[in-house]
Amino acid sequence: MGKLEFYADIVGHDVIDHLYQLSSLLKNIKVIHVNSTRKGGGVAEILEKLVPLSQELGIDTKWEVITGNERFFHCTKSMHNALQGNPLDIPNGLLKVYEETNAQNAEKLCPALEEADVVFIHDPQPAPLLKFCPKRKGKWVWRCHIDISRPYRPVWKYLRDFIKDYDASIFHLADFAQPLPHPLYLIPPSIDPLSEKNKELEEEKVHSIYEKFNINPELPTIVQVSRFDRFKDPLGVIRAYRLAKEFIPSLQLILAGGGAADDPETEIVLAEVKEVASGDPNIHVLFLPPGSDRIINAIQRGADIILQKSIREGFGLTVTEGMWKGKPVIGGNTGGIRLQVINHHTGFLVNTPEGAALRIHYLFHYRDQLQTMGKKAREFVRRNFLITRHLRDYLTFMVSIIY
Ligand code: UDP
Repeated sequence: MGKLEFYADIVGHDVIDHLYQLSSLLKNIKVIHVNSTRKGGGVAEILEKLVPLSQELGIDTKWEVITGNERFFHCTKSMHNALQGNPLDIPNGLLKVYEETNAQNAEKLCPALEEADVVFIHDPQPAPLLKFCPKRKGKWVWRCHIDISRPYRPVWKYLRDFIKDYDASIFHLADFAQPLPHPLYLIPPSIDPLSEKNKELEEEKVHSIYEKFNINPELPTIVQVSRFDRFKDPLGVIRAYRLAKEFIPSLQLILAGGGAADDPETEIVLAEVKEVASGDPNIHVLFLPPGSDRIINAIQRGADIILQKSIREGFGLTVTEGMWKGKPVIGGNTGGIRLQVINHHTGFLVNTPEGAALRIHYLFHYRDQLQTMGKKAREFVRRNFLITRHLRDYLTFMVSIIY
């Protein structure tokens, strides 16, 4: 039995049949994805799933990874930060390494890439490959996974010179894109319902994980899972909790998350959060190491309400994860969260801690609403934000670009 059969149990056989129908139009084509790492990060995570599922559908799909030295990755990291708005100038010497590394990779990859019908180039790292594969036959697509809506202009201008020659680009959300002289497509991210972070967990396991952290699984609980980052507004969450606690005295709050390896602010924000939370035994601040997927799963499942009170956010995966677990989400009224939470139906969009507290109070007061919204949230994710929808979008995209 293939993997797709397991998804059929969750999304329904008609969804899987639709994938087979679409793929029948793509039977004789060769597809290659190229990125810069086999492990780690969201892009590798998604390709790890999408490539085998496409193969299972009978589409000849390969995944190639470019290699580079430390200077290359130093350059692409700076580029990544600059594209997200940091005013970082990249020295010419490093840009030379960037281009030469792509030229070297092209020597090995070109024969296959030039023959492929569709080539997906993920993110900026392998973007110059197109220039070094002049005899290309198929369509080349730049798949951008980051928010480049407000880039540092000189760096975007440099990269744009490589991107403009592609046949199309794909972004997560319209808000993340830049104007380009070719068609732009939107494919929002997804979660995998069969992953360690999202698969079903028995209540006993959820409870045992709560107890391991000395948290009472029986009390009303609100949870925010996030890196300790100011944009996630953990202090605003504590304020909302305190305001709501006046009406729900047994309320407890879990703030769980780690930090990004490249973010020096994590420790400072964590210290601030601990300081503000100190003295309240019902606030649980859990600093989680990487690979805590099962713990995150349990923490989200044990919650009554999920918060994601970000003040700036792209597409917040934690929002989708919480909704998939049948929880209403109170999310910051910003970025992709606006697309993920249907206000008053699957949760609430809020602008302030006071607004969040009001909604927490409301949901605990009207428990039936809490349940109903949670069910709607799960259904909304089932229809729109699971990996099967993501795969369908890729297939539809390929059909539209090839025919
Ligand atoms: N996450 C994690 N460990 C942490 C904090 C978050 O594994 O300590 C996960 C979380 O469950 C989600 C992802 O990392 O899957 C974060 O994605 P999101 O889009 O919510 O926020 P980002 O961190 O990318 O801004």
